[in-house]
Amino acid sequence: MRETGDLNNLYQSILRSSELKEYVIPYLEAVKAMPGDSVLKEQGFKRKQQILEVIGGTEENWADWKWQLKNRISDSNVLAEIFGLSDLERKRIERVSKVYRWAISPYYLSLVGEDYENSPIYRQAVPDIRELLPGGSLDPMNEALTSPAPCITRRYPDRLIINVSNQCAMYCRHCQRRRNIGEIDQHACLEDIAQAIDYVAANEEIRDVLITGGDALLLSSHVLKYILSELHQIPHVEIKRIGTRVPVTMPQRITTELCDIIRNYPPIFINTQFNHPLEITPEAKAACDRLVEAGVVLGNQAVLLRGINDQPDTMRKLGQELLKIRVRPYYIFHAKDVQGTRHFQTSITEGMDIIRSLRGHTSGMAIPTYIVNAPGGLGKIPLMPNYLLQSRKNKVVLRSWEGKIVELDNEPPDMS
Ligand SMILES: *Cc1c(COP(=O)(O)O)cnc(C)c1O
Ligand code: SF4
Repeated sequence: MRETGDLNNLYQSILRSSELKEYVIPYLEAVKAMPGDSVLKEQGFKRKQQILEVIGGTEENWADWKWQLKNRISDSNVLAEIFGLSDLERKRIERVSKVYRWAISPYYLSLVGEDYENSPIYRQAVPDIRELLPGGSLDPMNEALTSPAPCITRRYPDRLIINVSNQCAMYCRHCQRRRNIGEIDQHACLEDIAQAIDYVAANEEIRDVLITGGDALLLSSHVLKYILSELHQIPHVEIKRIGTRVPVTMPQRITTELCDIIRNYPPIFINTQFNHPLEITPEAKAACDRLVEAGVVLGNQAVLLRGINDQPDTMRKLGQELLKIRVRPYYIFHAKDVQGTRHFQTSITEGMDIIRSLRGHTSGMAIPTYIVNAPGGLGKIPLMPNYLLQSRKNKVVLRSWEGKIVELDNEPPDMS
């Protein structure tokens, strides 16, 4: 039989549980209002058939990344046919494309639902007239001043980036590296890559090498194999990282052949860029499964984008869906003031509010670090909501995730 104290504990626990349950109800309601899996599946299937019809292609073509790459949509007439765009809409796309290039993989375009104008997929992929608004910087990162060798960006003591390509499966409208993601598709030449590898080999403090671009996985498999195997032979390179958006924009690229190369050079970390839960499709999941099976540790670096993922519920859902496909949310980047992308910018406060809304309400593993890039190439600055209200020599005052105030001793006990 339970003692009175036990009963009281049980009563308290039940009360607390229902209080906790109350917290999650608005989120569950919001998720219910999002389109369900079966609706998405049907819309996706219809859109894919429609695209295949318009551009001409088979199921087999669709599964082939080289076909996806070659058949990227970059003609406003094709887009107009697929979405029934008005002549004005089509002309606006044309105007933007005179300044900024665009190209969308058939796969990524197939994720656009019926309401294309409000689709977070469409907005990331299709040129918007606001890209022509003035203002913003072309090189807010000052990348030109941090390159000690060809292809290299070095901003940290122990790690650096090798830029191996300026090609991407899609030219994201919010791209923060527009200056480098050129007008012509171009991989770095092998000579430059060799020099970059020599720089790494000659500098023993470099223990972490990030291969990125553009998109590192648009390199041919044999060049990628060359880079990985060279880095693998450098004793002080402890880990290799690859930056790529293909799991999101062209998951067909993650072939078993590619995975068979990757598995030979552990440890490899791949960071990708899912920005919205609608991007987490069965194809994307299958691509991530193949990478995990090849021993890769997967992470996600989202960009906080107005009108796409600036709602707390969207970010929460994104983080949770990512964990389901074994991708750990790593960073959310604050969108920098880059020319042509200003309509995507949010305030820094909004970013902090999103992070605050996540803590306590979802798995800690689903919460990325919010990063503002310091101008002038000074590096990443992490921003956290403030949980430390006061810090004195003998006492700290803290705030819990629910806003409850706690006081703690700041001194270890005197053990003498
Ligand atoms: C972002 C970045 C890195 C990696 O930084 P982490 O915080 O370790 O992920 C390394 N070099 C440069 C130049 C970078 O911009
Ligand atoms: S994949 Fe990355 S680098 Fe390429 S266009 Fe998109 S955001 Fe820019």
